[in-house]
Amino acid sequence: VQIDTAKFRTAFTQRAQRVLSQVEKTTETAAPTPSDQVSLSGGGDPSVQGLKFEAAVTAIATSATLGGIPGLAALTQDVAHSLVSEQQEIDASARMVDQFTSLPLVQDERVESVWSGVAEVTESPHDAPLVYESFFIDAQADARNMMLGTETLKGDLADDNVLAFTVAHEEGHRQHRDTAGTAGLQALMDLTENDKELYSLAYQAMAEGRQQNEREADLFAAEAMTELGYDKQPMLEFLNSLPGDIHHPVGTQRAQAVDEIFQEASDPR
Ligand SMILES: [Zn+2]
Repeated sequence: VQIDTAKFRTAFTQRAQRVLSQVEKTTETAAPTPSDQVSLSGGGDPSVQGLKFEAAVTAIATSATLGGIPGLAALTQDVAHSLVSEQQEIDASARMVDQFTSLPLVQDERVESVWSGVAEVTESPHDAPLVYESFFIDAQADARNMMLGTETLKGDLADDNVLAFTVAHEEGHRQHRDTAGTAGLQALMDLTENDKELYSLAYQAMAEGRQQNEREADLFAAEAMTELGYDKQPMLEFLNSLPGDIHHPVGTQRAQAVDEIFQEASDPR
């Protein structure tokens, strides 16, 4: 999914002005702490209205009230969700599938069986995963399609618990519209690439936003797994084995968060 950077710039600035003027209003009545001070030229609502994109990015990223870098990442993804249309998502997914037309599609009973449970408890509006006869396709989802490769199904995803978790995780990405959110994080980087300091904020927001999406997809999957009665141990071992990278929290943290969901489910209060 591609986002028009000019449109993103306008929508982001408007949204930032709105949330920053709300902060101004609340800090007028509450005693502001130093870290809550958003530096705006002139101060007060009128200056917020005239805030430029560059200043808006900095103001959001440095406002403790708005969550700093995680707040910038969340706002960016929100703006992206409002800019990307359903038709754009459908078209982008179709283009993705077109790239793989040379690969044979196969039926896989394990995937079908796992999917029927996941689709039900997550109330999925989407199609079943596409299984490709492939060495290089791992497990991925875009705005509409989920793809799995046969080699991964025999390897990393050989255990049904791990397969179900992975399918539910990818479903989480689809339902949260992370393809659009990620395109927004990219648009923010594209718009700031000529300014070292702003680009650094945008880059941190991209990493934070991507990791946030992964954590949320994990929680989404863990909740589905508890409802479906899957065994957590193979999932935790799988997650524990994963190294982190710029887009993914380290596996041990992911396993711990998933384990907490299972513990809450088994210990209802
Ligand atoms: Zn993921």
